[in-house]
Amino acid sequence: MIEHWIDGASAAGASERTGPVYDPARGVEQKRVRLASTEDVDVAVQAAARAFPGWRDTSIARRQQVMFSFRELLNARSGELAAILTSEHGKVTSDAAGEIARGLEVVELACAMPGYTKGEYSENVSTGVDVYTLKQPVGVVGIISPFNFPAMVPLWFFPLAIAAGNAVVLKPSEKDPSAAVWMAELMKEAGLPDGVLNVVHGDKVAVDALLEHPVVRSISFVGSTPIAQYIYQTASSNGKRVQALGGAKNHMLVLPDADLDLAADAAVNAGFGSAGERCMAVSVVLAVDSVADELVAKVSERMSRLTTGDGTRGCDMGPLITREHRDKVAGYLDVAVDDGATLVVDGRDPEIDGEPDGFWLGPTLIDRVPTTSVAYRDEIFGPVLSIVRVEGYEQGLEIINGSPYGNGTAIFTNDGGAARRFQREVTVGMVGINVPIPVPVAYHSFGGWKDSLFGDAKAYGPKGFDFFLQEKAITSRWLDPSHGGLNLGFPQHD
Ligand code: NAD
Repeated sequence: MIEHWIDGASAAGASERTGPVYDPARGVEQKRVRLASTEDVDVAVQAAARAFPGWRDTSIARRQQVMFSFRELLNARSGELAAILTSEHGKVTSDAAGEIARGLEVVELACAMPGYTKGEYSENVSTGVDVYTLKQPVGVVGIISPFNFPAMVPLWFFPLAIAAGNAVVLKPSEKDPSAAVWMAELMKEAGLPDGVLNVVHGDKVAVDALLEHPVVRSISFVGSTPIAQYIYQTASSNGKRVQALGGAKNHMLVLPDADLDLAADAAVNAGFGSAGERCMAVSVVLAVDSVADELVAKVSERMSRLTTGDGTRGCDMGPLITREHRDKVAGYLDVAVDDGATLVVDGRDPEIDGEPDGFWLGPTLIDRVPTTSVAYRDEIFGPVLSIVRVEGYEQGLEIINGSPYGNGTAIFTNDGGAARRFQREVTVGMVGINVPIPVPVAYHSFGGWKDSLFGDAKAYGPKGFDFFLQEKAITSRWLDPSHGGLNLGFPQHD
């Protein structure tokens, strides 16, 4: 049984409900996970609330040391975490290592916390009066994460929140919950006091308990668009700060002057890495007509070289997260064909290096997908790459800007002027120029536009720190005999 982690120890909680955790490469249930009740969440929140004042008052130097220790431990033991990711999520070992490396970047940013959490000072704003701003932690913060990055997405938030002096209740995805507990245990080993980082497992019941709990001051959410919208509305109507990152449908526009080999490599890597279960996966290639046939041929040739199977066996691509999700993704292929698309590579009967009952779907390529098809409109979140043919730049841009999603996009071209126009005109939050998965480094911020992000608070980077800090402005005057006397007017400067 995968238990909660509350107040620095494993906790069963009072709820009788549990959920399955699968081994997707074998297609079997490998463990059960606790599904918290509202009361279980309250126990975790109360533990965080008790731990908060002591942690807030812990010196910057000490908090920083904990983050440095955590970084060292995570670096040294990343293999253990990668094995957990592969076992419960299914992603291949190299991809699991990549996920941890990107998460570690944010831990390193957290180590640099003093530079981001210091305030500002203006001396003598009025004679003998100084104004300064303190940045203080907000208190108990809630984090709710998706299944597709069980380590990296929690790492986008909790290191910054904790470095900034907050106490955390993390609700990871119930589909692959072990990574979160493993990291919480490692934080304890790094010297974090009990109660500063708590993990509760669960589903909507646990999420709603966090959204409604009066002690929880902020919610950081990553997941699908409908849930992100729900989180944003519910948490903000309960008076909390919210950052809610949603789903995606990422387009890659290939202009005729692009290096087509580079573009084909990029489309395959970004389309099928992690079996397409990435919010920054390329799911649609917009190919300009004049080069589309050549590009489709190059992409399919590369796909024929991909191996699918057990993530521990050196394959390129692992299974999908559950049988239901695999079936849902596969269902889009018939829909696309019924809507007039051409199935170029059908992944439904893949050759597998692994157990036959795993949740397998091989790399799939669909050409000439109409933008009216739900196979184009929906976020499929699997190893399905769609080609949409366009006349040129203008039509490509129109399609991208017409999408309700705005997480990531890429342009492949050798024309600097076209790339510059694109970066200016496209209504998407993260843009790659000859780079297919433009995930910003930790010292910038991550977040999309439109239905890919509700609210205005992005993840990590300087803005990620700001989310976990509240500013307090102090106006101070030390006794100066020349400033006495009564004056009921609004204070003015002299
Ligand atoms: P999801 O929305 O189903 O679940 C995310 C979290 O919300 C989980 O912890 C889950 O337990 C909880 N949840 C699910 N249904 C709920 C409900 N009805 N009420 C309250 N809480 C609920 O997402 P997922 O399937 O775990 O993850 C995949 C999705 O996440 C994709 O849409 C992907 O694009 C998105 N994603 C986005 C980003 C980003 O940065 N924008 C990053 C990673 C994943």
